[in-house]
Amino acid sequence: MIISSVSMVMAVQEKMNDVLHGFILKQIDYKDASVILTFLSEEYGKISLVANGARKASSKNAGRVIPYTKAQCLIDYQDGRTMYTLKNVSTIKTYKNMHMDLEKSTASAIIAEIADKFVMNGEESEYYKDVYACIDQCYACLENGGDVLTILTLFCSDIMKYFGIAADVDECVHCGSRLVSALSIKEGGFLCKSCALLLNVPCTDLSDLKRFRLLSKASIRNYDVIIKSCHVSYRDLKTFIEMITVHTGIKITSFGLFERLFAIE
Ligand SMILES: [Zn+2]
Repeated sequence: MIISSVSMVMAVQEKMNDVLHGFILKQIDYKDASVILTFLSEEYGKISLVANGARKASSKNAGRVIPYTKAQCLIDYQDGRTMYTLKNVSTIKTYKNMHMDLEKSTASAIIAEIADKFVMNGEESEYYKDVYACIDQCYACLENGGDVLTILTLFCSDIMKYFGIAADVDECVHCGSRLVSALSIKEGGFLCKSCALLLNVPCTDLSDLKRFRLLSKASIRNYDVIIKSCHVSYRDLKTFIEMITVHTGIKITSFGLFERLFAIE
């Protein structure tokens, strides 16, 4: 009887102090020098965390609630809730190199924004674990000097597959012909010559179609293979971003900054 009471108390204590691991996707100011973090946790999906007083210089959490870092957070988890008070936070990975470089840090913001806009709150959200793993790989790759355009394009490609908007790159999206000669963002994939003519879509170079197909099929997990086999251009990334916006209505605002700073057509 005593043993079971003790184990019950222990179970309650465990439940009351949940340690979560995840990425800080966003930080917004909140009343009384506090902030609200959007946190993609490995354990419970996307949740909001209120970090009380985190904007005060004296706060122990001040330097630990930085977006695009990996953190360990202590909260009281309860089923069904998606907003919590942050009891304690510590940084697991700062991604120093990624944050010091303007192109890489802008890329990390694009990744976080896409993840935030696609993953719904809570554990029920589909694919949050896959998106979590993708961010983990992308941030590690950015930190280790990986190619920004390749990383971003493969991240977009993964997101499009998870959320069912991957481009059709095996045949003409209209007639099913295997002889393709154009890519249409609006139609969501390849077109044959006659369908392209009918829809007034200009033909695309075969090498560009092949690269787009490869990137659409690939994942950030294949980064090492892709970086050796093809050169991803700014235009490739822009095509993926535009496909996401056209087929979901989701606008990636941080890509605007990336474009203004780094667009080389
Ligand atoms: Zn066709």
